[in-house]
Amino acid sequence: ETIGENLERAAARFAGREALVDVATGRRWTYAEFDAAVDEVALGLLARGIAKGDRVGIWAPNCAEWVLTQYATAKIGAILVNINPAYRAHELDYVVRQSGMRLLVSAVSFKTGDYRATLAEIGFEPVVFIGERGWDDLVAAGRDADPAALRERALTLSFDDPINIQYTSGTTGFPKGATLSHHNILNNGYFVAEGVGYTEADRVCLPVPLYHCFGMVMGNLAATSHGACVVLPAPGFDPAATLAAVESERCTSLYGVPTMFIAELAHAAGYDLSSLRTGIMAGSPCPVEVMKRVAGEMHMSEVAICYGMTETSPVSTMTRRDDGLARRTETVGQVMPHLEVKIVHPETGLAVARGEPGELCTRGYSVMLGYWDEPGKSAEAIDAARWMHTGDLATMDSEGYVNIVGRIKDMVIRGGENVYPREIEEYLYTHPDIGDVQVIGVPDEKYGEELMAWIVMRPGAEPLTAEAVREFCAGRLAHFKIPRYVHLVEDFPMTVTGKIRKVEMRERAADLLG
Ligand code: ATP
Ligand code: MG
Repeated sequence: ETIGENLERAAARFAGREALVDVATGRRWTYAEFDAAVDEVALGLLARGIAKGDRVGIWAPNCAEWVLTQYATAKIGAILVNINPAYRAHELDYVVRQSGMRLLVSAVSFKTGDYRATLAEIGFEPVVFIGERGWDDLVAAGRDADPAALRERALTLSFDDPINIQYTSGTTGFPKGATLSHHNILNNGYFVAEGVGYTEADRVCLPVPLYHCFGMVMGNLAATSHGACVVLPAPGFDPAATLAAVESERCTSLYGVPTMFIAELAHAAGYDLSSLRTGIMAGSPCPVEVMKRVAGEMHMSEVAICYGMTETSPVSTMTRRDDGLARRTETVGQVMPHLEVKIVHPETGLAVARGEPGELCTRGYSVMLGYWDEPGKSAEAIDAARWMHTGDLATMDSEGYVNIVGRIKDMVIRGGENVYPREIEEYLYTHPDIGDVQVIGVPDEKYGEELMAWIVMRPGAEPLTAEAVREFCAGRLAHFKIPRYVHLVEDFPMTVTGKIRKVEMRERAADLLG
């Protein structure tokens, strides 16, 4: 099945139910209305001469037009290229050229900058601006077009065609364009929805960016595959505005990366969140304490953790509703249906013993077609037996529950001991004055690397000294895991997906230590 066929089935089955709500503008679509609106955009794109396989970019903050463009490009077999709204001229230029873009859907400006000026700077002209004549004309052309053209195009599409290029978050380096098919992402969305138990009664609040799989697959595709409604809070994450949207729209599910939930917890008491049942935390290590508080203080008793990466559509493992609270907070769950996961020694490639850390590899329908126009990098990531090597270190227990212990690149080797920063972060989270914490390795003459903790204090708490932090760890963590340096900060360097950029932390730490 293609994404277009899936949406049409949903439109027939859930016709009068709400499909999409754009809180910023107050606009709403039922499934029937949404599918019709998607067709107008799709026909408008056909009228612009967009052929199957053409790359159509979207560079805009979260909005209804984003979702319409996602489905419209899939319906005509164009390849949607998701562009991070925070990209500037240099990165935009790279993505536009690297993907060979034919047309770009964009916003005029957003709080992260003046998009029109940036586009003029790189000299890219085929742009349709949302909220202006460009978009309106596209839709009007679609409205006037003969719908037969869409049916003809549909006959040429296959479920394994590429339809999406998503650049990875760039947490560890320069972003790579993961190329995904209908089959990849539609199945993943479907099984995520099964995992959290969506029905047409669910209303899913998405403060996460749509340009990332978390929003467009685990959010949009998961919801429409089960007749649930997508609720988009105003773009540009704001914890209070997000909770207000949950309250006013009676959302049953809320998504976020851990830092979003941490910010929301500080406001949770001020809102009626009783409609919430579930939600997903994902994207970075999910601290146990934060998961427990979200399950309790935010009414999300069934909250799930998903683990995955852009290259795998994205979810490989997730927790289930019937897992006990301990499993649902301390692990990233078990492998998704119809996928395989194994943990191997990063050098030998052989499976490690149960419980031992190694690199997580996954295989099955979710593995991307490859990196766009980078056969060398694709071959490095996906081996001859089709296993995707994730670069993440994980353990698996005897019942198949997976724990992510860190990224291979973030592992610290101190005096010959392998140290996983995640473990130390988890322990420091239990300190009542610590709001958020990240641990990195910094170069050290004697030990090769030393540990440095970056700490965000809870509001109103007295600043902690390095001595106090070390005292808190003494006797609770092995001596080689106790951070030598403590650096108090207001926040961490982040990607727009809300991921902490440890690469940048390490660079800054090197400066700090001179
Ligand atoms: P880049 O590949 O460009 O460096 P990135 O890997 O951060 O960026 P994404 O594909 O968005 O880009 O993120 C996938 C990564 O996020 C995973 O490889 C893993 O390290 C991390 N991750 C995702 N979910 C979880 C989770 N639940 N727990 C721990 N880590 C997670
Ligand atoms: Mg990655």
